[in-house]
Amino acid sequence: MILLLALLACAPAPSAPVAASRPPVAPPESAPVEAPAPRIPAPPAVPVHVDLHTDTPTQMVRRNVGLDDPKLESGLSQMRKGGTNVVVEVLWPPKDPATPKAWTGQVDRLFTKVEAEDRRLADVEVARSPSDVTRILIEKHIALLLSIEGAHGIDTGEPIAAVLAHLADLQKRGLSLIGLTWTFSNRFAGSSGDPPANNPAGTGLTDDGRALVDKANRLGLVVDVSHASDTTTLEACNRSKAPIIASHSDADGVHPHARNLSDDAIRCIAQKGGVIGLNFHAPFVGHGADVAKVADHADYLKKIGGAGVVALGSDFDGLIVPAAGLADAGDIPALWAELKRRGWTDEEIAGVQGANFMRAWGAVVRGGTRP
Ligand SMILES: [Zn+2]
Repeated sequence: MILLLALLACAPAPSAPVAASRPPVAPPESAPVEAPAPRIPAPPAVPVHVDLHTDTPTQMVRRNVGLDDPKLESGLSQMRKGGTNVVVEVLWPPKDPATPKAWTGQVDRLFTKVEAEDRRLADVEVARSPSDVTRILIEKHIALLLSIEGAHGIDTGEPIAAVLAHLADLQKRGLSLIGLTWTFSNRFAGSSGDPPANNPAGTGLTDDGRALVDKANRLGLVVDVSHASDTTTLEACNRSKAPIIASHSDADGVHPHARNLSDDAIRCIAQKGGVIGLNFHAPFVGHGADVAKVADHADYLKKIGGAGVVALGSDFDGLIVPAAGLADAGDIPALWAELKRRGWTDEEIAGVQGANFMRAWGAVVRGGTRP
């Protein structure tokens, strides 16, 4: 709380309230009493530090622990140490057993766990919009955003209209982001984890996938293309009317890997106003994975797409092999120090920390029908 108040104190002072400096004059009794001026919302006073991808719900359910468990990579204590105050809690349905009931059932179990933590812990709350985040960061400490990793997680096995209605229900429950695929192609899109021969969409979006992107746009849900094939990524990017994100992907241009993004994908996401979350998993970061190598990916994303495309999606608690020096969320400030050392401006770093995602998310929500 001390830190928060200090940050509030550092916020730019609002322009001087003119009325307050005049001597109070009582209006004549006959004059209509003016309604008070509408309150202008204050700019976010608390710096926003977003992690766009953590698999913590899966770990919490597997190990039957809470978000305050000290052994998590992105639990409360680690986030507090590293400064993360907005975290995407990922609902991940494994591929097997490959039945709609198993997939949607697992999403429901993980959802229920995060909801229980929201009720149990005074410091956290599920946020459904950027304005929710602003309020939660002032009132509490950490805002949780909910995402599903792979649209198989919304596949009830029904016709597409019913599946999309289910998606709308999940949003009402608190979902803010939807990933198109995990490591295998599904009824919506081709995955980077599948050879093209196994991909019913010919590596891109299917008709159902196009309907999903359109529906997400209408609902104001963020579309996430991490794990999607390059073709899916470009098709979703071009089709979407709102910014899209790659929540936890690095750059092919630094380390070629099916999970990393091509220059075309980086350019498209940037032009659309979206963001790309730097992933800390060593096999994606590349040879000698450490803080400097992650910063190489940041430099590269900036070179291709501009500083405004860069964000962070650690993949913590996803059984990753973390890059050296980035073992858990408490270590994230080492990355900010490295970017500073490389000449990134404070404004650019604040963008990577969270301002870039908040910009993109705001545009997605404004484009939808939901307030
Ligand atoms: Zn993933």
